[in-house]
This record gives sequence, C-alpha cells and structure tokens, in this order.
Amino acid sequence: NKFITITTHIEGTPQESMFEIKTQILPPIESNDVIVKCLYISIDPYQINRMKHQSSSHTSVADASKITPGMEINSGGVGRVVASENSGYVKDDIVYGSLNWAEYTIVKNENTLRKLDTMEEFPLSYHLGIFGTSGLTAYGGFFQVCKPKKGEKVFVSAAAGSVGNLVGQYAKLFGCYVVGCAGTKQKVELLKEKLGFDDAFNYKEETDLNSTLQRYFPNGIDIYFDNVGGEMLEAAIVNMSPFGRVAACGAISHYTNSQKQATANMIDIVYKRIRIQGFLSTDFYTNDFKDFMSVTTDYVRAGKLCVLEDVSHGIESIPSAFLGLFQGENVGKKVVQIAQE
Ligand code: NDP
Repeated sequence: NKFITITTHIEGTPQESMFEIKTQILPPIESNDVIVKCLYISIDPYQINRMKHQSSSHTSVADASKITPGMEINSGGVGRVVASENSGYVKDDIVYGSLNWAEYTIVKNENTLRKLDTMEEFPLSYHLGIFGTSGLTAYGGFFQVCKPKKGEKVFVSAAAGSVGNLVGQYAKLFGCYVVGCAGTKQKVELLKEKLGFDDAFNYKEETDLNSTLQRYFPNGIDIYFDNVGGEMLEAAIVNMSPFGRVAACGAISHYTNSQKQATANMIDIVYKRIRIQGFLSTDFYTNDFKDFMSVTTDYVRAGKLCVLEDVSHGIESIPSAFLGLFQGENVGKKVVQIAQE
C-alpha cells in the first residue's frame, strides 16, 4: 500500500522535499474493520497546520490531530469498499470518510464513514467539493453565520477557490451584490465572466488594500467572507458598514507565515458594531446538511451553480497538489484522483 507522509514538521512555505511516498504491507483485516480503496482525496489548506510542530499550534483541535513525520495523513476522501468485517458495509459500497493519502485505508471506526448516495449524473469527486465540506462551509458560513439580506454588499477573498467561489455564487443567487478577490488575471476574469460576480480584482496588483476596497465598496461592505486573514481582513474591517458581519472561515495567509496575523482595528469594530464570527463546517452537519444538499443539487441540475474542480491524477501528485494551494495554483476545489471510479 503506497502512502504519502511528511519527512519533517513544516514551518513556513512547504517544499516538495518535505514529503515522501512510502510503501507498507497492509495488516490482516480484523473484526469491525472496513478496507477502503481511495478513489478521490481532498486537498485542503488547513492540513498544513496539522503538520507544524506541537508548539506552533494555536488550538486544542489542531493538537488532537497532529501529523508527525512518517505518520499516515488523513483527510476527506471518497472510496470503494474492497473488504469488510463490519456488518454495516459490504464490498463495492461507495463511501465518503476520513481516508489516508494512500491507495488503501483500513477504517477502524465506522463512524468516520458514510455511505454515499452516488447520484450517477455527477462525478464522485463532487462529494469532496460542491456536495461536500467546501459546499457546506460556503452554504452554512454564508447563510447561518453572515445572515444576509437581499441587496447587501458582499466581499469574498480567495474567491476563485473551493469555498470562495461557492460563497460568491450562493450570494448572487440570493440577491446580493458580490465582489471577489483572487490572485491572477485569469481567476478575476472567471469570477466576472463565468460565475456572475458583479466585480472582482487581483489583490496581488493592489498596493493599498484600504483604498482598493473603498473603490469597490464606496458605501461600505455589509458582509465579508474571510478565507485569508492578514492584511485583507484588516482592510475589510476598516471598510465595513455599521452592523457588518465578518465570517472568519480561514486565514490561509497566516498558515505559511505566522508574522501575517491580522491586527483588527478595534475602534472600528466597536463603533460600527461589527460582528466577527469563526465557525467550522462541522457546525452545520446536523441541522443544515439536508437542506444544503437539496438546494445545491437543484441549483447544479438547473445549471445555476457552476462547478469548479481542479483534479490531479495519481498518488504521486498529492504533494505538488497540496503545495499548489499556497501558490494559488488551484482553481476551485483541489482533489487528487488516486484510482479510477
Ligand atoms: P482554496 O481552494 O481557496 O485554495 C486556497 C487559495 O487561497 C489559493 O488558490 C489562493 O488563491 C489563496 N491563497 C493562497 N495563499 C494566499 C495568501 N497568502 N493570501 C491570500 N490568498 C492566498 O481553499 P479552500 O476553499 O479549501 O479553503 C479556503 C479557506 O477556507 C482556507 O483558509 C481554509 O482553511 C478555510 N476552510 C475553512 C473551513 C471551516 O470549516 N471553517 C472548511 C474549509 C476551508 P489566490 O490565487 O486567490 O491567491
């Protein structure tokens, strides 16, 4: 069984040499085990925080799931059951669950698996993006955390990424005015031409983010969906309208550069009564998942939501796919296909 691991804890920008591919012999299957062949694995920015030294982690959540050199790395994946000693699963079931960056995973805790309603018209990879964690994060984060009203002005960072592009599309379908930022000209064009954003800009070409946001939002931002933290968050807070809401979804600019921690302007927050709320996709599983799936599948079937996926092939491509997230190489959801459906 081939799997990917880290050769060292990662601080700063990750390099390809910090990853290696190893081979192991799978132990014999035990009672309750399910062996899953990975078909698609999700590639996510937060994983880098799990790969840092213990001392550099910020939360107990991150501590609980630390990855050390040599260890298998797990993330969301879609796979096919190849053997089962568990009464809940049989060979050839298609499942979503916590799988390793590996060809095969022995799943010991059946609670980390879910049988998939495969919906044959869609590729299975969609369960990692639009019908999976990214979609739920965008949907729950936008509707539950931001509590939008029609006509409000919404700003989204990392807007051509997996979560960001969906936030912008949901916001447009709901009736908001939406501006996104992204790191290349091609992404900016995609947001405006294909995804229906009202406007978009390349943040790498801007020298003063405060005045940039003032230009795009002369009357203020009602909702900022923050995927990046850092200077963009600082500038967004300065440009928020009274009673504006900031959904703190992620802070990718901090992940490879701990000096980038945002310093929020507290006076702005107080006087404008800004609400900043962090959240996790898991917050929405119990109450919102059904609603999210039904709304999202309807939109995709009707051609109202555009699906952005960025698929690499082969287990060997996982490190470069992962590194690419921090260089802005991906457009939409980054997944690696490990085996044929
Ligand atoms: P994306 O698909 O958005 O990929 C990451 C993108 O971030 C890159 O393509 C790049 O696009 C941008 N980026 C990379 N480095 C920087 C930087 N230094 N400054 C600004 N932008 C940068 O990833 P996801 O959609 O999966 O995740 C987006 C955010 O949401 C992340 O912060 C992630 O941790 C968070 N998240 C949170 C969840 C939750 O439960 N709260 C769940 C899932 C994700 P560009 O070309 O624009 O630079």
